[in-house]
Amino acid sequence: MDATEFRKRGKEMVDYVADYLEKIEKRQVFPDVEPGYLRTLIPDCAPQDPESFEDVFKDIEKIIMPGVTHWHSPYFFAYFPSASSFPALLADMLCGGIGCVGFSWAASPACTELETVMLDWLGKMISLPEEFLAGRDGQGGGVIQGSASEATLVALLAARTKTIRRVRSEKPELTEADIMGRLVAYASDQAHSSVERAALISGVKMKSVPSDDTFAVHGSALKKILDEDKASGLIPFFFCATLGTTPCCSFDKLLELGPICNKENIWMHIDAAYAGSAFICPEFRHFLNGVEFADSFNFNPHKWLLVNFDCSAMWVKKRSDLIGAFKLEPLYLQHHHQESGLITDYRHWQIPLGRRFRSLKLWFVLRMYGVTGLQEHIRKHVRLSHQFEHLVLQDERFEICAEVVLGLVCFRLKGSNELNKALLKSINEAKKIHLVPCHLREKFVLRFAICSRTVESTHVKFAWQHISQLATELLKTWEQNHQQQ
Ligand SMILES: *Cc1c(COP(=O)(O)O)cnc(C)c1O
Repeated sequence: MDATEFRKRGKEMVDYVADYLEKIEKRQVFPDVEPGYLRTLIPDCAPQDPESFEDVFKDIEKIIMPGVTHWHSPYFFAYFPSASSFPALLADMLCGGIGCVGFSWAASPACTELETVMLDWLGKMISLPEEFLAGRDGQGGGVIQGSASEATLVALLAARTKTIRRVRSEKPELTEADIMGRLVAYASDQAHSSVERAALISGVKMKSVPSDDTFAVHGSALKKILDEDKASGLIPFFFCATLGTTPCCSFDKLLELGPICNKENIWMHIDAAYAGSAFICPEFRHFLNGVEFADSFNFNPHKWLLVNFDCSAMWVKKRSDLIGAFKLEPLYLQHHHQESGLITDYRHWQIPLGRRFRSLKLWFVLRMYGVTGLQEHIRKHVRLSHQFEHLVLQDERFEICAEVVLGLVCFRLKGSNELNKALLKSINEAKKIHLVPCHLREKFVLRFAICSRTVESTHVKFAWQHISQLATELLKTWEQNHQQQ
């Protein structure tokens, strides 16, 4: 394909994507395929001779689309949202066009510098304390990671190195291996599984801190477990607080937890993967109070801020903590600007070496929506979740299982877990909408997450009527079966 054909095909592809998104509502939200469906539809090996664009293009509808779960359908209410907007799609195209690998400042100065400035913009939008911003010569600053999981891992690894160095300077008789064996990280029993995985990858122990009956962790719960662990010779070094937990969007009590972590030399990382986007609205910013005690903070614009995957924003108060843990300088990666204090080489802030020009997506979206446009998007989703909550509350057969704060509603039929599993099964088998469940303590709960950028009140109403009707049918047969026993 030469540039002339690319111009033509590029425009066709834009039309295809625009049509796809404009008419996505007409597609069944969840596909009908069985595992292994695709292998039977395509050849065993790559073609020896080139094929035409037409050949490839016509296979999109034939081979790919039948197996796509349509995350941007207004009938998709599963997981948490995956952001999407036209400005972000266009920026991603430009990113692909430039195609640089921005591991150091010199590898593509704009790639590094735009990222630093965008993370300052974004930090100011959620009123992060000054210490987290890069400014002209700050100690802190932001970086775009691929995912919240990576951000947690990076924070945990930096905390591990920092702690090992501190303990060795205090107790030189301990070896690194002695210290490693005693390190303990902590997170809520409601924390995302990626936190436990970060500990697993890092080779340190991880303990759950019990949350209260609103699924939030208090200072007292952390304090209790820290006291026990210190008494038995362990070294607590890392706590991951969650703002907006994945099962039910609960918020750990930062103002209680932060001072404890600071006093005990424990790195506090905050995982606000989903909820963080809401902090651009003044009415939700209070959830972030206490961030001033944290060492690192992370949220995903790729979840709820209209920036397509991947874009996970992470800030640290002391960039030296990351660089101190991860910096290696082989000759082929050094450059002559390195001595300047103004240089950021993002490869020291992350696990991979290579990185895409992801800040273009932020730049396009922040400019073309403006803060007010993004606030409207968040507020609309919150309004719709309250609409759904209201519909659930009007039906005596159902209960709400956790406070509805942002765009997530946890609900269930009053009754057994088996009954609720059967309800979810009938919803997902009908494939008119798509939901996923969670456990809240011993209860099996259905999660209704407002996801699509284009979802409206009518879709929410439809979803509720559909669920309610399936519940009626289910309860009829359920009671008959029950009477027979
Ligand atoms: C979604 C989510 C994650 C995982 O996000 P990735 O960016 O996919 O790693 C982590 N923590 C919380 C609280 C989440 O909701």
